[in-house]
Amino acid sequence: MQKKGVSLPEARRQNRVQIKELIYKKGPITRTEVARRLGLTLPTITTSAQEMLAEGSLLERENDGKDEPNPRGGRKPLYLDVNPSAGYVIGLELGPYRTTLCLTDLRGNTIHKRLFAPVSRDYDEMVATVTRQVSDLLQKEDVPQDKFLGVGVSLPGFIESEKGVIRSSMRTGWNGKALGPDLQKSLGCPVLLENNVRVRAIGVEMFSSVPRPDTFAYYFVSKGIACSLMIQNDIFSGKTAGAGEVGHMVVQPYGPVCETCHNRGCLEALAGENAILRQCASVMENVSAETLKSLSDDEEDAKLEYLLKLQRENNPLVSAVMDNVVFHLGLALANIINFISPRLVLVEGHLMRNEQNRERLLKVTHQNLFGLNETEVDIEFMPFDQFSGANGSAALVVKKKFIHNA
Ligand SMILES: [Zn+2]
Repeated sequence: MQKKGVSLPEARRQNRVQIKELIYKKGPITRTEVARRLGLTLPTITTSAQEMLAEGSLLERENDGKDEPNPRGGRKPLYLDVNPSAGYVIGLELGPYRTTLCLTDLRGNTIHKRLFAPVSRDYDEMVATVTRQVSDLLQKEDVPQDKFLGVGVSLPGFIESEKGVIRSSMRTGWNGKALGPDLQKSLGCPVLLENNVRVRAIGVEMFSSVPRPDTFAYYFVSKGIACSLMIQNDIFSGKTAGAGEVGHMVVQPYGPVCETCHNRGCLEALAGENAILRQCASVMENVSAETLKSLSDDEEDAKLEYLLKLQRENNPLVSAVMDNVVFHLGLALANIINFISPRLVLVEGHLMRNEQNRERLLKVTHQNLFGLNETEVDIEFMPFDQFSGANGSAALVVKKKFIHNA
């Protein structure tokens, strides 16, 4: 289907992108079904498919496992699918607690994954470390150069993904730096930079085998809090790529100062993991207070794990802090749902490992919905996975470099 004002080669390229994307999402699928779904002619599909089969990015097989015998006899239809080993990508998350790295094929199957201590807050040191970690992995796994599509890097904060620039993050020494171009230079391969919650949503869209609607929100609670929006398979970035930074919505005027945005009383300052540690430390007593203090600052996630354990043991002081935190998280989530009315919200966070926090989040959210009842929006808790950010970063590269670069 040639759009007005689009040259013929560009129209062909756009068709290829559409065809590849559909086969990626719905494969194994027949050529006839691709033509029907896209409203393109069968010869258009066949020509593009032949090209992609010849270059190795697609494969075809006789049966998708559920095929009925052809009632008219004769040849069974051939199904098209993406060839998972036609390309490899690396995904990396520069998380506040650790750096995670994974090498995957086009379907997100992990070939290798690694976990490192968090990188230095010094920008140049961080670039050197990441360059070494990625180069080591590529060398060790002996990835064929012609099949390597690039590296996806994600981190919390306001990321201008088009330019590969960190506009604002907790690691203030990195602000304003062009991390994407800098790593591209040091690694000598394409590097894509994105926010760590947006890539999680892309990871779900691209790599998950669970069928979900193509429009959903991803609410992520860690040191920072963000909610990214996937709208018809497209991640919403806003004009300056800051969409989804709900952690810095002010929810309590004159509240505590936020370390990241420096305003008072934003959601992160009240309900982010740093805020939880601070509030618990100020109210806890005796043995538990001493134990918390004895855990060093290098063990921040151990501190949070310890607080979650105390909550499960019904420590009243810790439970009161958690209740207040989850109350704010639930109010914010209800506001988000009221504003955009998504069919589905995926929720991920250390805190949500405790059942009482999941229940309270649902309760507060449901109590504050407007015009919607709880059956009209699904809230799904994602299993805690240290590699979800790295996988999402890998999915970003598959989406941009394999599908969109068709
Ligand atoms: Zn803030």
